[in-house]
Amino acid sequence: MKLATKFIHAGVEPDPSTGAIMTPIYQTSTYVQAAPGQHKGYEYARSQNPTRKALEDALAVIENGKYGLSFSSGVAATDAVIKLLAPGDEVIAASDMYGGTYRLFTKVFEKFGIKFHYVDMGNAENIRPLINENTKLIWTETPTNPLMNITDIAALSAIAKEHKLLLVVDNTFATPYLQNPLDLGADIVMHSATKYLGGHSDVIHGCLIMNDDNLKDQLYFIQKSCGAVPGPQDCFLMLRGIKTLHVRMQRHCENGEKIAHFLRNHPKVGKVYWCGFEDHPGYAVASKQMRGFGGMMSFTLKDDSTEAANKLLSSTKVFALAESLGGVESLINHPASMTHASIPREERIKNGLLDSLIRLSVGIEDVDDLIEDLNQAIG
Ligand SMILES: *Cc1c(COP(=O)(O)O)cnc(C)c1O
Repeated sequence: MKLATKFIHAGVEPDPSTGAIMTPIYQTSTYVQAAPGQHKGYEYARSQNPTRKALEDALAVIENGKYGLSFSSGVAATDAVIKLLAPGDEVIAASDMYGGTYRLFTKVFEKFGIKFHYVDMGNAENIRPLINENTKLIWTETPTNPLMNITDIAALSAIAKEHKLLLVVDNTFATPYLQNPLDLGADIVMHSATKYLGGHSDVIHGCLIMNDDNLKDQLYFIQKSCGAVPGPQDCFLMLRGIKTLHVRMQRHCENGEKIAHFLRNHPKVGKVYWCGFEDHPGYAVASKQMRGFGGMMSFTLKDDSTEAANKLLSSTKVFALAESLGGVESLINHPASMTHASIPREERIKNGLLDSLIRLSVGIEDVDDLIEDLNQAIG
């Protein structure tokens, strides 16, 4: 099935009781049983809910996986993956991944005796020296947030398989419209579905998609035992969002390309980080594993100061200054003081995340208005 058809029909069957074309919001905490144990597969809504089931089936289909599991947030999905591990286990993670993932690893899970190593995954070979007998899992994100670095998923997967390690890919930025990590050898795909999958900045949601039966059983057990499950209303919004993912992403990509080139040609702009530039270090790999380059990008100013960045950030009229990304509306943010504030400054600068760095989530408005807005704000 082609992408557009898949995104619209994935997981959704007419409701068996009424024929409703959209899966209803099953707002219930429990299900009546005819006799003890005599039920239709639904007992208690932390464990099963039909709206959630439709969404989980849809997620599996759009990521070319066998199983989907959804969670109350992206970090709840990440949390569930790390709970597969035990004290003494080690994880190798990308050095410039999402700040909230870094915070969860360092501030919560290190306390429980899990060890994390951070490395630049721009070259998959960089992980080899960190692998030892305790290594269990590789966590990567591509393109990365906010510097748009690219990891070769297939190359990482080859190393992971050689050492029997689980490979998890945070596919939030690319979305299944642009990239399918399971097809490239990943074991688990994670999404902050809050972003592009939901697409309308109105719901917090996370998910995991996988092929392996045993892995699914373990993660389902964690999902119901730890209880970070989404409500049915949120699952409905996700189901609705996914239906237009391909149309939105197509426009995000078109607008993104135009804005990246506009910024690159602007005399006051320093470096522009967008993986669709042919001289981007990850361009060859991105062209191989992605179907387009998306609407996420970052840039610095030639006047590399926090003041210059702040002036720009408070001057945009269409771009809203806000955390998050992936919605229909364009957002602008300052990673150093917002999304990545929990990373120590020294570590941040070392990874190229300068004080003046500005991140854009290019929305699907008319691109002329977006360019005009940036032009007047840069001044
Ligand atoms: C937002 C985000 C997360 C965290 O997801 P939440 O839905 O906010 O919990 C994880 N990874 C990436 C790349 C993100 O952008």
